[in-house]
Amino acid sequence: MAAVRFRGKNSFVRLLSGLAAAVVLGGVMAAAPHALVEPAAAATSPDPDSSRPVYRFWSEGYGNSHFYTLDYDDAQNLHSTDGWWTYEGTDFRVWPLENGSCPEATTPVYRFWSPKFTSHFYTVSGSEADALRQGDPNWDAEGVRFCAASEPGPGLTAVYRFWSSAFNKHFYTANASEAERLRTSDPKWAYEGIEMYAPTSGAASPPVTGEAAPRMGCQAPDMSSAIAAHDAARIVRLFGGAGTFRDAVASGRASCVPLDDPALPWVLVNKQNPVSPIDYVPASLTGGLRTEVAGSYADMQRDAAGAGAGSIGLTSGYRSYSTQAGIHRYQVGRLGVEDGERLAARPGYSEHQLGLAADVVACGGGGCGSLYDFAGTSQERWVRENSWRYGWIVRYEQGQTATTGYNAEPWHLRYIGTELARAYHDGGYRTLESFLGAPSAPNY
Ligand SMILES: [Zn+2]
Repeated sequence: MAAVRFRGKNSFVRLLSGLAAAVVLGGVMAAAPHALVEPAAAATSPDPDSSRPVYRFWSEGYGNSHFYTLDYDDAQNLHSTDGWWTYEGTDFRVWPLENGSCPEATTPVYRFWSPKFTSHFYTVSGSEADALRQGDPNWDAEGVRFCAASEPGPGLTAVYRFWSSAFNKHFYTANASEAERLRTSDPKWAYEGIEMYAPTSGAASPPVTGEAAPRMGCQAPDMSSAIAAHDAARIVRLFGGAGTFRDAVASGRASCVPLDDPALPWVLVNKQNPVSPIDYVPASLTGGLRTEVAGSYADMQRDAAGAGAGSIGLTSGYRSYSTQAGIHRYQVGRLGVEDGERLAARPGYSEHQLGLAADVVACGGGGCGSLYDFAGTSQERWVRENSWRYGWIVRYEQGQTATTGYNAEPWHLRYIGTELARAYHDGGYRTLESFLGAPSAPNY
């Protein structure tokens, strides 16, 4: 990860400040190590009286992310309305900006946000901030929100900085015993040194009050029972709806949600993800599809005809492991492995085994066409534009072979549930892999 590489480049600088901090943390406030970082006598010392403590938040849902803000409205709002974040109290003191600049003898703290790592990063180092701005596309500069001291001095205390390559997150604290505990007994966090110095006294920040918003996502108290019950609708609701569910899954904030459980409608089956267990059989089938989705298929078929698009026929719904073995053998025998496998899945790797896939054809007059006649029919156009309303997506679109591993199959519909299919349609997704933030699966 780029952030890790970036940290590495600074390890020498960090090591120097780390030496001083290690001594402080160990409780030996010896004078000598301070010489490493002691500045030439500062012309003026920052005035502690106008300093205020930052509000500190933690999010398990964002992968052990921490967030620090001096903005009371931000903090109160997060606490009251955003169930992804837990208010942890106030932490180190900083100075607010005065008319857009830092008070005398204080240093700007640059704030960055990474959508990729879903975390904030703070630094007082102008060169580190410059390097991130210019050389690291993973981080968006958010400007300066508050100011700190960059050198130690009377009435100042260290703010310790940690990095976790397990979580891809930074963490800061002025609490020496918390820092000591992380440094000595939590292997997931690497101590990076003293980031800044904070005054030990000053003004108060207005208190964050009232009830916290209900916990979201994997932190929701009901989540484990919803997952145990395979209650897809409740799981999605506990994430705040299909859109936020999708974002959480795709960004790795939904580790409690299985993507390989065939009982859940978003189950991912492709050349990298076989059906699990590989000989899975749906508990109940109706009209060639899993019973839960047979109704939505019938509605779709009825509405296509009602809209004047013509009649749609189901040529293949559920296929067992052994049926798929026969199809795979036939296509590979006919076309060779490479071309055959762009058409037919290996047994255990077909969505048809889930009972959640439907191969449809256009029917009318004298009978039904074949799969290969489906493209360009009025039925095909209607299905492409409307199937999402019934919970179905066209799974293998033109131009997506590098992601899906299959040639375009306008006839192969996959049920993912009506809420998710709407989010898929509204978000303009072309593959289930990109919708779920899963890696491409061009090959076995
Ligand atoms: Zn199919």
